[in-house]
Amino acid sequence: MFILPSMDTTSPHPSPAPHPSPAPRALATEAVHAGRDDLARQGLHAPPIDLSTTYPSYDSRGEAARVDAFATTGAEPDGPPVYGRVGNPTVARFETALARLEGTESAVAFASGMAALTAVLLARATTGLRHVVAVRPLYGSSDHLLTAGLLGSEVTWTDPAGIADALRADTGLVVVESPANPTLAELDLRAVAHSCGSVPLLVDNTFATPVLQRPAGHGARIVLHSATKYLGGHGDVMAGVVACDEEFAGLLRQVRFATGGVLHPLAGYLLLRGLSTLPVRVRAASANAAELARRLTADPRVARVHYPRIGGAMIAFEVHGDPHEVIAAVRLITPAVSLGSVDTLIQHPASISHRVVTEEDRRGSGVSDSLLRLSVGLEDVEDLWADLDGALAPLQRGAGLCSYAAPPRGATSHSGPSEANRPATTTVLRPSRTP
Ligand code: PLP
Repeated sequence: MFILPSMDTTSPHPSPAPHPSPAPRALATEAVHAGRDDLARQGLHAPPIDLSTTYPSYDSRGEAARVDAFATTGAEPDGPPVYGRVGNPTVARFETALARLEGTESAVAFASGMAALTAVLLARATTGLRHVVAVRPLYGSSDHLLTAGLLGSEVTWTDPAGIADALRADTGLVVVESPANPTLAELDLRAVAHSCGSVPLLVDNTFATPVLQRPAGHGARIVLHSATKYLGGHGDVMAGVVACDEEFAGLLRQVRFATGGVLHPLAGYLLLRGLSTLPVRVRAASANAAELARRLTADPRVARVHYPRIGGAMIAFEVHGDPHEVIAAVRLITPAVSLGSVDTLIQHPASISHRVVTEEDRRGSGVSDSLLRLSVGLEDVEDLWADLDGALAPLQRGAGLCSYAAPPRGATSHSGPSEANRPATTTVLRPSRTP
């Protein structure tokens, strides 16, 4: 397992570590201990929350040198922090922990997932490489940010097989999600990374989390999370984070300093706490999801079920009949956008998460109007099924029209269009236990 170099970004006043680097530790151990390794030495158990926006220093010459060093490399300044927009010790604990879980040198946290993607695009644009190659589907706002070219980027949409041909001399980034939001289509990340050549590959790993998949190990240089989702895990933190090598992290910190999309320290604290239960939450929710996917697949009111080969707690399914009726009828499950919380959420991507994507582009990437996205939580699976079963009741059994545009790439679990009264035939696979 990857071990961070012996930099201590967890303490506001780093001192030489009294012990050599720890031995390789399993993911579950890192989830609980990473970013907290200095606590016992400090006589602490829970991490402190440092709410300071600024830090006193009587040595202005020394500060000047530290500011210059940050402007040159973007590395975390040595010694005490300087200013909240440069870095915060509580946030740094979360960054350290996430980097360990993703197996990267560094991580840089932002105020939201979209702020994180913005910083990546700006960081690449500083090199003059404004062209982006991307594979649909992506989360609706990510798609929109790229399509609209709001940050001066230009995008070429392609399927995975077309990535190599879509690369240009000014291509600075390839962007993919796997499993993708909302269809849960999966990519062979190693093959995609190979197609990218020397162009950095960004993998949005929000759905899989490092518990199920660590894209850096497959060749991704940049791993992005909407930390609002599984990393926080309780629906009460908005955040984003980018795991990457230290060189790119330096650029991201400089962009973050210049543009201001910082994460609040309280959010950093909650995220660090969220990470400690991430493996347990993801595995428990995945077991629920696998069972619900199995039952939905056998249900004649359901036309198609999408569930990733690597497992996870997200399910997408297409219903016979009006999907809005299902949304209106749930009682235990919350009808809300977002995902990755301890409680189960359902939403209609064509109406909400992917509303900003044109109908043509939605359909072309498999986001049909009958598709519902379910983020499965930690409730008892029988209670969840009772609610889903009741919410599906208004639908006529297999009598509705299922409009479906075949996605352009190998989503793993698409069944063929099911006929009336015939259960969908999705294969549901067991979640893998190791990243
Ligand atoms: N990436 C994915 C896969 C998402 O689902 C989302 C939000 O739903 C984002 C990025 C954006 O994250 P945020 O809402 O934290 O800005």
